[in-house]
Amino acid sequence: MLKRLLGLVGASLGLVFWCEYLVYISVIYQCSWPLPVGDYNDSEDGIRAMVLADTHLLGPYRGHWFDKLRREWQMHRAFQTAVGIFQPEVVFFLGDLFDEGMWVSDEAFQHYVDRFKHLFKVPDAIQVIVVPGNHDMGFHYALAPRLYNRFNQAFNSSSMQIINLKEVTFILVNSMAMHDDGCYLCHSAQVRLKNIADKLDCAQNPSQSKCSNKRISSNTEYSKPIILQHFPMFRESDMVCTDPDSAPQVEKEKPFRPKWDCLSKDSTDTLLSALKPRLILSGHTHHACLVHHQVEKNTEVIPEYSVPSFSWRNRNEPSFFLGIFTRRDYTLSKCFMPRESTVIFTYISGILALVIYSLATICIPTLRQRLRRKQE
Ligand SMILES: [Zn+2]
Repeated sequence: MLKRLLGLVGASLGLVFWCEYLVYISVIYQCSWPLPVGDYNDSEDGIRAMVLADTHLLGPYRGHWFDKLRREWQMHRAFQTAVGIFQPEVVFFLGDLFDEGMWVSDEAFQHYVDRFKHLFKVPDAIQVIVVPGNHDMGFHYALAPRLYNRFNQAFNSSSMQIINLKEVTFILVNSMAMHDDGCYLCHSAQVRLKNIADKLDCAQNPSQSKCSNKRISSNTEYSKPIILQHFPMFRESDMVCTDPDSAPQVEKEKPFRPKWDCLSKDSTDTLLSALKPRLILSGHTHHACLVHHQVEKNTEVIPEYSVPSFSWRNRNEPSFFLGIFTRRDYTLSKCFMPRESTVIFTYISGILALVIYSLATICIPTLRQRLRRKQE
């Protein structure tokens, strides 16, 4: 009897260990870095990045405590497993790290930041780069300087930034600063945009007279930039998205509200024509999408990938991107996480099997023994 009881406890622990730990290793192991293309010909070349969006850590107001605990564990486990397996050089978070970042007090915000840094902790050699989302500091209409400054201080972000990693240029855009209505934030973004556009221009054509100005002169070789932002560029709706993990049909049919669901057409055109990017990576919609933009007819087509949410609260099967970026090329692959429905099915089947096993091997024989004793 004791042996059977111990067996039952062992099998229950095994079930939990599989569903809460091993399943992440088994699923994430099936994913791999994308195959190298173009000028990527050496393991030293290019920068290897993981790209995640919309982690939406719950705060004090929304969601049940168990929901919060479960989602945080799932994201923590999946992220740590992925970082351990792939060992990227940089991790990009495309905004909405928090669900209630715009509502919480300064004290609660600090707690939020600490929790984020704990859940998504990486070894010192890996850089973490964050762009803000509307849930981190509020939509444009509600964006107070206090909310903007505290997020920027915590994550070293700004209204717009240019960074160079292994000769690859990335532009980090604060989507809420792209309304161009003259507000303090939008004004700062416009000034920075002009400066970055000049810098890129000087990197491409350094002989121009304006390039003698130290502020815009560039000592790095030109690399067509990659834009990282929270809102997608302007699109009418998600009807154009054909990825298998794009939005459900009902959601696709809803027209996008510019400045809420995506950037306005004007801001999109301004960004595209000033920066002339080769790729855009965005979040916010929680669903996948690949769209192509063009500044003018007969100009280069610019792909934009919407990165789905990394939280199981928003998706049954979250995902993230792995990307290898070089000065001229890039290559991407998408890694899917364990399906929530499969994990729940495994739990239900496992529990049923354990109940049947305990009835057959422990309860029924015990009852029979008691009956026999009564009859004797
Ligand atoms: Zn958002």
